[in-house]
Amino acid sequence: MIYERLSHSARPHTLPAIKAHAPCPCGSGDIYTDCCGQWHTGTPAPTPEALMRSRYSAYVAGLSDYLLATWHPSTAPGELELWPVKWLGLDVRRAEAEGDAGIVEFVARHRDTSGRAQRLHEISRFVRMDGRWYYIDGQIIDDEREAS
Ligand SMILES: [Zn+2]
Repeated sequence: MIYERLSHSARPHTLPAIKAHAPCPCGSGDIYTDCCGQWHTGTPAPTPEALMRSRYSAYVAGLSDYLLATWHPSTAPGELELWPVKWLGLDVRRAEAEGDAGIVEFVARHRDTSGRAQRLHEISRFVRMDGRWYYIDGQIIDDEREAS
């Protein structure tokens, strides 16, 4: 279903659709349908890391509906306008889950509209409700300030 939507709907200009057998944008090394594609098409992501990766892939592909659906209702924005940026890669540094709470630390790299490469270093919090993981919020780590 998602592929149909990706290929037929009028999609925002710069966002690429993900091809089913292409390497997954999250950088896992698996093809998309064996990785984040499963969660994008409705199967609940089994771990905070899987959800975080699938949300990164959703940013790459412009799947704002998926991003909103996996955002905890208490912190989710009413609507989501995706940044017009080119995502360059994801590096998951740490992923932990204990009971129904989890955290994932990651660095996501992207190129902004002026062409400058940027890093987003974040520690995200996740919670599981009714068998599904949701993103709650994230703490941005300022690497430059930490380094100095
Ligand atoms: Zn993936």
